[in-house]
Amino acid sequence: MIPVTKTYLPSIESYHNRVRSIWNTGILTNRGGFVKELEGKLKNEFSLNHLLCTNNGTIPIQIALKLYGKGGEIITTPFSYVATTAAIQWEGCTPVYVDIEKDHWTIDPEKIEEAITPKTTCILATHVFGNPCDIEHIQTIAKKFNLKVIYDAAHCFGVTYKERSIFSYGDISTCSFHATKIFHTAEGGALICNQPQDYEKIFGLHNFGHKGKLDCSGLGINAKMSELSAAMGLSVYEDMDLIYNKRHTLADKYKTHLTSEFCTSFKLRANTSINNSYYPVVFKDIKTRANVEEALNRNEIIPRRYFYPSLNKLPYVNQQKMPIAESLAERILCLPLYHSLTDKEQMQVIKIIKETLS
Ligand SMILES: *Cc1c(COP(=O)(O)O)cnc(C)c1O
Repeated sequence: MIPVTKTYLPSIESYHNRVRSIWNTGILTNRGGFVKELEGKLKNEFSLNHLLCTNNGTIPIQIALKLYGKGGEIITTPFSYVATTAAIQWEGCTPVYVDIEKDHWTIDPEKIEEAITPKTTCILATHVFGNPCDIEHIQTIAKKFNLKVIYDAAHCFGVTYKERSIFSYGDISTCSFHATKIFHTAEGGALICNQPQDYEKIFGLHNFGHKGKLDCSGLGINAKMSELSAAMGLSVYEDMDLIYNKRHTLADKYKTHLTSEFCTSFKLRANTSINNSYYPVVFKDIKTRANVEEALNRNEIIPRRYFYPSLNKLPYVNQQKMPIAESLAERILCLPLYHSLTDKEQMQVIKIIKETLS
């Protein structure tokens, strides 16, 4: 069976060594040495002012919205994972969808202004498959209307835009370190921000609202990463070059062989260095996507319909029509892409797609 992804497992010795040291210290959580070491390494590598590790990649979106959503309307994208919309609804805010750009697949800034009302508090947009949103345009709109910008950067570990980590843009960015993501801590994630006063608030929110051992006067939640997760993260982190290189080679091969106009991918935004965490392809119509999916499944190859559904179609939101996102969500497949995918396996995937299309 060839799945869409496989979790990268570091050498068991590397993980064991860290776990052994946990046995010595007896510290399993509450910001032990491994969480701080991981935060330090990531801040340093990506030149970030503030980064806080969390226990998954959804709670950082909730925390960002707790801080800036204020129960208002959140301008958001229909083309993302369900967590983006679920966090909005869960935090008592209202998602207001704006359709995506046809070629980049990120929120269309040309359509944002008409969706803004006096109740709008934030723009929450996703850098889709690591492809950056139109950051400058969004920033201009946010400034004009005094809105906060939150980026769901769940896919963006290692991505740079204009020579800077993509995490450094917007008021707050969030990342996921879930086992299916390019860098992982089994379950985990992070909040990234630029302003020290934001960091202070975020820090409190992620730890029960504590401002000291006894003072828990602010409202908060438990979003802390455990030492076991951070230990996994540190061990995976040692192998990132290997992971990036392998994925780069695989993505290049897909790109070389899947050149048909009936099977395309997104347009990479200029000045971006991508991490190849996914290889999405979009077919000319629903029927072709279904035919390709069936042919692959018959050969025990399991691509994933990701993102599906278009989030404006979720039963618990105010449904707005989003023609571009809806059409894309119906026609897209993410192809197998992971460190241990062999050349032979990948060529089999390519061959089946080509045969089905011809
Ligand atoms: C994975 C993902 C999330 C959620 O992250 P978890 O760590 O699984 O909670 C949110 N948004 C996007 C775009 C994702 O891909």
